[in-house]
Amino acid sequence: MHTETYRQLDREHHLHPFTDFKALGDEGSRIVIHAEGVYIHDSEGNRILDAMAGLWCVNLGYGREELVEAATAQLRELPYYNNFFKSTHPPAVKLAEMLCRLAPAHMNRVFFTGSGSEANDTVLRMVRRYWALEGKPDKQWVIARENAYHGSTVAGMSLGGMAPMHAQGGPTVPKIAHVRQPYWFGEGKFAEGRVGEGCDISPEAFGRECAAALEAKILELGEENVAAFIAEPVQGAGGAIIPPESYWPAVKEVLARYDILLVVDEVICGFGRLGEWFGSVHYDLKPDLMPIAKGLSSGYLPIGGVLVGDRVAETLIERGGEFFHGFTYSGHPVCAAVALKNLELMQAEGIVERVRDDVGPYLAERWATLADHSLVGEVRSLGLIGALELIDPDTGERFDKARFPKGFGVGTLCRDICFDHGLVMRSVGDTMIISPPLVITRAEIDELVRLAWEALDETARRLA
Ligand code: PLP
Repeated sequence: MHTETYRQLDREHHLHPFTDFKALGDEGSRIVIHAEGVYIHDSEGNRILDAMAGLWCVNLGYGREELVEAATAQLRELPYYNNFFKSTHPPAVKLAEMLCRLAPAHMNRVFFTGSGSEANDTVLRMVRRYWALEGKPDKQWVIARENAYHGSTVAGMSLGGMAPMHAQGGPTVPKIAHVRQPYWFGEGKFAEGRVGEGCDISPEAFGRECAAALEAKILELGEENVAAFIAEPVQGAGGAIIPPESYWPAVKEVLARYDILLVVDEVICGFGRLGEWFGSVHYDLKPDLMPIAKGLSSGYLPIGGVLVGDRVAETLIERGGEFFHGFTYSGHPVCAAVALKNLELMQAEGIVERVRDDVGPYLAERWATLADHSLVGEVRSLGLIGALELIDPDTGERFDKARFPKGFGVGTLCRDICFDHGLVMRSVGDTMIISPPLVITRAEIDELVRLAWEALDETARRLA
């Protein structure tokens, strides 16, 4: 089939996720047909550097034969069986054991799901169940953060703090509250009321302000009613928001003061993204629960889970009886076999250490050079996640939204230009984001930064 035939059929029959169906119908899709290493190839012959690793997930890069072999061998041996009703199979058992070996020492149990969203649904049920079993059934409120993304199921989007998602499809799950995110550039430096005064608050003071907002919310709801706080170590889909150094220590103090469970969503930060197996290790978080997905299988097959700390596991196991929860594909044998092989390869190839000691610091150095571009107001990165904040060169502040038609912004313009220049870089508002495969080389990082600079130049030209 040719590109136009695909486009036509796609237009007629395919409703894409997170897409304005009508607008896509007018523009037509890019048809991705092949991928190798850090590059994707489309049906029109373009080779594009995928600086987003698909959707933050292809950690080992594309085209790994070992993962194909692990999948085909398992498909032949046992393509499906479930883990319900006192059954299991070798891939699920081996993967559970390996995950618990890689996780912080106090996490020795895992519950498998098919995705990150299902993992967060599981989290919500587990934390409320835990407190009920502890004789504190009123502890039901879960506090999350504004603009957080925790998935697209009803529980996932309710835990998430994205207002446009809450506005669609009816009421959200009750007893979920949101507090401010530690986004210094957007809500500290350039917060409403602070614009013009510029940096009147330092990142460190802002980090403490955000932790104080969490404490205020706990006191407002009543500590006896709050079950858990959920957050990503570094907020991914919200805009690659790396919190100020003061944030996590202050949050940990608050949670300990009121005996509130900590859920660290590792769906993006897990499996090497921040230069440790888990983002929680980088920030020394000691979570009670860790939802995982994406990099667990490098995105080759869908699988997620929740790593459960000893405190919660003990109560669920010793006092819980049957937990009425699970998915047909919980610990699917083929997905588990691929995930296991993926983790084994990451370990054998020292991928996590490479991010921490080599390509992570190299990206930081090269990425920082983009701060010299007139469109860039801030550059940040940690491990292999990074962001650029676009600013109006005429004012030195964020672009005036009134200047652009609805649904269109400088970020979107820059993202589309990137694509045309052979680079996948995502935009969240006027924040440009990268999260490349962890196998990216230094030469490919140079190429990424060069393409980003060219795309910024072209964006500036179009705005002039
Ligand atoms: N949690 C976080 C932090 C995510 O970034 C995502 C997806 O982007 C999810 C959960 C949901 O995962 P999935 O899309 O696998 O359901």
